[in-house]
Amino acid sequence: MQELTTIQEMKDWSRAVRSGNSRLGFVPTMGFLHDGHLSLVRHSLKKCDKTVVSIFVNPIQFGPNEDLDNYPINLKQDKKLLADMGVDAVFVPQKDELVPQDLSTFVEVKNITEHLCGKSRPELFRGVATIVLKLFHIVQPDLAVFGEKDRQQLEVIRKMVLDLSLDIEVAGLPITRESDGIAQSSRNTYLNPEERISARSLVQALESGRSLIQNGETSAGIIKNQMRSVIKSQAGTQIDYISVCDPKHFGEINQIKSSVMLALAVHIGKARLIDNCLVEKSPCKEPC
Ligand code: AMP
Repeated sequence: MQELTTIQEMKDWSRAVRSGNSRLGFVPTMGFLHDGHLSLVRHSLKKCDKTVVSIFVNPIQFGPNEDLDNYPINLKQDKKLLADMGVDAVFVPQKDELVPQDLSTFVEVKNITEHLCGKSRPELFRGVATIVLKLFHIVQPDLAVFGEKDRQQLEVIRKMVLDLSLDIEVAGLPITRESDGIAQSSRNTYLNPEERISARSLVQALESGRSLIQNGETSAGIIKNQMRSVIKSQAGTQIDYISVCDPKHFGEINQIKSSVMLALAVHIGKARLIDNCLVEKSPCKEPC
């Protein structure tokens, strides 16, 4: 596996790959890789001739009181995992080169970023879109793979690609979960054993919301109350948001008439965890 650290090395490698007419797949990550990341990598390996994975803890997507300084890193293990899978190149940019002190150009995707994580973390999507666009320019992939765990981020990238007429296919892959249902996340490492038990309440809340909808409940208020009580029943949980929203634009929905997204963000100890699911409306029992 090629290890690339400068922008020029990455560009040269990509140019050489593309000049051979190979289809190039790209998986951007912040490292501390788990099976969720690896499922994206597997998809790229399957769909493309060559795959490059980036590992970069993007400083400009973190707010002032967030976990940038504590974000987990294990570069050696990440590289081994990727090499063992047959990844062709890993790109580990240097912070000062990718994000110079005087960076003055930013990408803002409006509207869909006003909700959910964009509302509680105002820096997040501007930071993500700016760095992902830079990475797209440097890597020049044919396919870029993201996870539905960060469904709002996935839609932000799709919108950016559409609005800026980028020639990149974007794939979104399902959430991978631990055996107890918790969505896999690099941030799960912050949880102690008690907090880990509390963290199960996220997927339990989603499941209880889903089951209400599938049993015919159409009031988002009732669904959110039920989800809230599942989270609150666990020690040490602090809800950031619970949402029943449109799965593409993320605006809140009051009355469920078609498919919706259930989403939530919860602080547990040092971790802020997110999870989501899509739910089809149950078929009408009476003519509708
Ligand atoms: P991160 O390293 O957290 O920035 O994540 C890098 C990519 O992996 C993003 O596209 C995430 O959505 C995706 N990802 C993270 N966790 C999961 C998961 N449990 N299942 C699927 N994709 C994931």
